[in-house]
Amino acid sequence: MELRKKYLKNVKKIVVKVGSSTLTHKSGLLNLNQIEKIVRQIADLHNEGKEVVLVTSGAIAAGIGKLGFKNRPKTIPEKQAAAAVGQGILMHMYEKIFSEYGKVAAQILITKDDISHRTRFLNARNTFFALAEMGAIPIVNENDAIIVDEIKFGDNDTLSATVASFVEADLLILLSDIEGLYDCNPRVNPNAKLIHEVKEITEEIENCAGGAGSSLGTGGMATKISAGRISTAAGVSMVIANGEHENVIRDIVNLKEVGTLFAPNEHPLPLRKHWITFSTDIKGKLVVDNGAFEAVFYNHKSLLPKGLVNVEGFFEQGQIVSIENLKGIEIGRGITNYSSSEIEQIKGLNSDEIEDKLGYKNYDEIIHCNNMVIS
Ligand code: GLU
Repeated sequence: MELRKKYLKNVKKIVVKVGSSTLTHKSGLLNLNQIEKIVRQIADLHNEGKEVVLVTSGAIAAGIGKLGFKNRPKTIPEKQAAAAVGQGILMHMYEKIFSEYGKVAAQILITKDDISHRTRFLNARNTFFALAEMGAIPIVNENDAIIVDEIKFGDNDTLSATVASFVEADLLILLSDIEGLYDCNPRVNPNAKLIHEVKEITEEIENCAGGAGSSLGTGGMATKISAGRISTAAGVSMVIANGEHENVIRDIVNLKEVGTLFAPNEHPLPLRKHWITFSTDIKGKLVVDNGAFEAVFYNHKSLLPKGLVNVEGFFEQGQIVSIENLKGIEIGRGITNYSSSEIEQIKGLNSDEIEDKLGYKNYDEIIHCNNMVIS
């Protein structure tokens, strides 16, 4: 209870994620009662002056129901078609119910790729801030109709944690069809005990998450724990709770002991470093010698061309690359100042030799220490 008082007492900005299993009946059709309950609670918090973002699943599930699939489709075109149909159905419902409560709903569809690009990431952030200023409620989902598995978040737990981090929320609420995190899987063990508060996500906590999941959504407990890693590292508290309870969102904000609270990190990563660590695709790899390893890893210095032994992958300036030592262990990640083909030419050189080699020099460093996160 202590942690709830400490972290949830004055939450101002809240991201609520609702899973497919909460929003749809087993038939695949929308659970209108449930949607109504969630929208009402969000509208009420908004009336109270809180800023709320809703991350909703259910597009694929709603499309499955409407298109008459018997089981969850497996092929990409079928899933994309289901999402294209279902997203419209979902938004129609949200728009209808939010406007009954006098609220403006705004749809934002995001892909992992959008977040991986620094400028698109910052643009997305600005859209959220602009909507908040106008009093609209952003309703977010992954852009499932156009995205393929390799480059997607894949589950809305991860998506919502990413959104909560970059809008700098105080609290992320993951609503599911389970009470919270148990010490073992409650679907198979009737003696499983609910864990009320998690101070730090340890290996033991990860083991509790097992791999439970339901048939309509994609997120089991494991993706919720990894969402916890992303959000708590950004200083955002997270609560997993059962979305079917009458006033669950309100109860959490009123400090009632529902669900499982994950305490935020006391020393959150600054936004840029958080983005480098969690939100990006790694486009390549830089292998460094022992001297550079010491300088970067232990002394938090910038990475210079001198210490580079090898470059792998094809990438442009501004993309995220991984830094490895000679043993093949990742020691950090960062935003590169030079492309892979430029680095191929300047690796091993002193910084004052860059211009002679390339004909220009934009930076002394390959990765500046401010744009780097050490593992
Ligand atoms: N984005 C998917 C949908 O709207 C759901 C992903 C998830 O269930 O986590 O259907």
